Amino acid sequence: LYQISPKAIVSDACASYSTLENLNTEVSPAILDLTQSTDFFSHYRVNLFNKVCPFWNDENGMCGNIACAVQTLENEDDIPTVWRASELGKLRGPSAEHPAKSTQHERPRRPLQGRLGENVGESCVVEYDDECDERDYCVPEDESLGSKGDYVSLVQNPERFTGYAGDGAKQVWEAIYRENCFQNSSFPHSAQLETSEKATNPAAIDFRSVLEAVGRQQVLEQQRQHDPNVPFVAKTGLEAEDECIEKRVFYRLISGMHASISTHLCWDFLNQTTGEWTPNVSCYVNRLHEHPERISNLYFNYALLTRAIAKLGPHLERYIFCSGEPEHDNLTREKVLAVTQRASSVPQIFDESLMFKNGEGPYLKEDFRNRFRNVSRLMDCVGCDKCRLWGKVQTAGYGTALKVLFEYDNDGEIPRLQRTELVALFNTYARLSSSLTNVQSFRAMVAAGEGQS
Ligand code: FAD
Repeated sequence: LYQISPKAIVSDACASYSTLENLNTEVSPAILDLTQSTDFFSHYRVNLFNKVCPFWNDENGMCGNIACAVQTLENEDDIPTVWRASELGKLRGPSAEHPAKSTQHERPRRPLQGRLGENVGESCVVEYDDECDERDYCVPEDESLGSKGDYVSLVQNPERFTGYAGDGAKQVWEAIYRENCFQNSSFPHSAQLETSEKATNPAAIDFRSVLEAVGRQQVLEQQRQHDPNVPFVAKTGLEAEDECIEKRVFYRLISGMHASISTHLCWDFLNQTTGEWTPNVSCYVNRLHEHPERISNLYFNYALLTRAIAKLGPHLERYIFCSGEPEHDNLTREKVLAVTQRASSVPQIFDESLMFKNGEGPYLKEDFRNRFRNVSRLMDCVGCDKCRLWGKVQTAGYGTALKVLFEYDNDGEIPRLQRTELVALFNTYARLSSSLTNVQSFRAMVAAGEGQS
């Protein structure tokens, strides 16, 4: 029942599951190489520790981490088993070096035009990564705290199981899904982020459950087209409501991001009894396999990012990566183009021109952008350093993809992206790519009878 038919089309995208999986077979080695072996794409600058959660007092959510902070053991094997889960949220490994001052250049003031990379001064800016642009879908790391942020090796700090769970994590996910309540609904604008709403108003609808039900309906319908044995489930009033593509896409993006995080924590899971890192099939079954709509959202995100990367590709052909050495720059560029060319091999994988066009679409764009910014702000409420790091990378990556897709025409102005945006975009694509690979492996394990309790 939970199997997704490979030929089924991922709704809101223009490709089937198997098309995306075949594409990923090509993309996966290239994106892995780019993000693991180049200095530019394996490091990230992020303000990890100096920001407080802007929406609520996060002392409770941070509790686990206060306990972490007193653990100074560097070697995982030295950590007592019972403490491992809380310890794992800490970041480790050397920080990336700040690029030499000589490679930095003054950034010209806006308005800036011209092709990416045409103007070396523009491309080599590393100090002003956090300047705001009204077309941004995420909040740049601000400088108001006088900190340039932390340089982090993404390779040394892989996204995996950390043991971060409980009320803190739940509160963040709830607030993220609450961003899905768009203005013209009868529900309060969640920018206020009254996350205690459910506690104070028992009648408040659990939006996530409703939206998940809608998604489940869509997946079942697709499956039914290919397999008549998939049962038909009648639509409820809410599900039948004709939800516009913009709201649906917003929900799918966050659910797909959630699904990708779940995939990685299940794949790179710590068995706290044996101390072994190993895939946890029941974790996958409970969080993903039994929820095909979440897997569908993951594949949808893959299609959306593929389209953004393909659209950006031609503009990166002359991008200057500021490594200080032309050969190094050329090598990085070659690796970028290896990814963008593969991503371009399936045309029309996602049609962004359908969005913000009809019905209430045009009015939703700003709301959509503001809501996505709020999701990125919520990352400062994540009480686990490593989860916060990857949460920030991924919201910035999706934000960049949305900016590329919706703020620039195909033949018009060229997106001017900051270094952090590029790094986030390609690393988010790498996360989705490995999620697709992991889901396929998990599916095979389930078929082989593994993980049955
Ligand atoms: P959760 O994953 O917390 O989900 C809460 C509820 O959301 C579920 O009960 C379900 O109703 C619904 N839900 C679940 N998945 C979906 C979906 N895909 N779409 C729609 N609804 C869904 N933990 C780690 O070990 N490593 C990490 O790197 C990590 N990163 C995180 C990053 C962020 C931004 C956040 C908020 C949390 C992160 N966590 C991480 C914690 C992890 O996501 C879970 O919250 C935790 O493992 C507890 O899981 P859970 O089973 O309670 O359900």
